[in-house]
Amino acid sequence: MSTVAAEFGALYGAAPDGVWAAPGRVNLIGEYTDFNEGLVLPLALPHTAVAAVSRRDDGVLRLHSADVDGGVVQLDVATLEPPAAAASGASGHGWAAYPAGVVWALRAAGHPVTGADIHLASTVPSGAGLSSSAALEVVTALALNDLFGLGLSRPELALLAQRAENAFVGVPCGVMDQMASACATEGHALYLDTRDLSYRQVPFDLAARGLCLLVVDTRVKHALGDGAYAERRAGCEAGARALGVRALRDVSAAHLSDSLARLGDETIRRYVRHVVSDDARVERVIALLDAGDPHAVGALLTEGHVSLRDDLRVSCPELDLAVEAANAAGALGARMTGGGFGGSAVVLVAADTADAVAAAVVKAFAEAGHTAPGIFPAVPSAGARRVA
Ligand code: ADP
Ligand code: MG
Repeated sequence: MSTVAAEFGALYGAAPDGVWAAPGRVNLIGEYTDFNEGLVLPLALPHTAVAAVSRRDDGVLRLHSADVDGGVVQLDVATLEPPAAAASGASGHGWAAYPAGVVWALRAAGHPVTGADIHLASTVPSGAGLSSSAALEVVTALALNDLFGLGLSRPELALLAQRAENAFVGVPCGVMDQMASACATEGHALYLDTRDLSYRQVPFDLAARGLCLLVVDTRVKHALGDGAYAERRAGCEAGARALGVRALRDVSAAHLSDSLARLGDETIRRYVRHVVSDDARVERVIALLDAGDPHAVGALLTEGHVSLRDDLRVSCPELDLAVEAANAAGALGARMTGGGFGGSAVVLVAADTADAVAAAVVKAFAEAGHTAPGIFPAVPSAGARRVA
């Protein structure tokens, strides 16, 4: 942390007013459900975006990232505008669109943010499906909330961060990533209802049950702005309209086949089947965790992967291989996590087999000629906080 503060001092010539951290996340289950007003179950990772920040009152916003080549980006808060045609990077600000978008979203909601100096550094792998973007947004939002005394709640900050990503960066993401980064607590998964943002902290002490959740970063960079994510979202919304419901959340899993029979479009039928069944899987996972039976969660993870692979079609060969190799080596279950098309998978294993399963995945990647994956345990960690 002090490194970030020292770098801030070297960059801007004074100590920062404070230092904040916000984590990346991994989603246990409930994928592509958050923009359908559905259920999700993410947990915060130990990896964080850290921001040293000072407030300014002259309308100047200065942004710098230790992880990006290029100097300080200087903007005028009064002239921040979302791009007319939203597409990833279309704001023209590159990475700076994430923190700048948060400043824009706060100001657009009437909050008096009059400028800031910000220096960021992040240990969340970028583009790995672990929400490095939400970590940047939430750390910025929390710092400005504190420095300007805005008094916003964690869910309010998450919604503004999502608005920044939707409208300013141009990625039509749901609210899961920002809520996880803002609201998660150590040792817990966050059972979130994205319809009303109500949530429950679910104890998730896998180690006590002899289990381990591995993250496999395939190192295949996804690009959520490339249209496939937006296409799935549009397809889900079309499905909800065709079924006469507000969101796919409202389609009953018990009567799913009746609903599917009413859909003429094969693609939309697949999308609906994924979303409705994944909402149901979140509830089944919660029931297992509440009943003290986390081992049985594994089979639901794999079932979720098959649905994402075959119905939503957002997986890729590397994610499929990670899941297959892990399961063949004795994992309890595995699935891709996050938006897909690359990024990461989660693997539930008995703790004493974690090394062997990880080695089997590494071996399978090598044999297939893929770049070696990054594998680490997902230790459920704290949400966003002030650290200095
Ligand atoms: P994910 O959220 O899954 O990591 P995204 O595509 O949503 O992937 O966000 C990745 C983008 O976030 C990067 O392309 C970059 O613009 C920005 N980003 C992530 N980490 C950093 C960082 N440390 N410094 C600057 N920008 C970053
Ligand atoms: Mg992201």
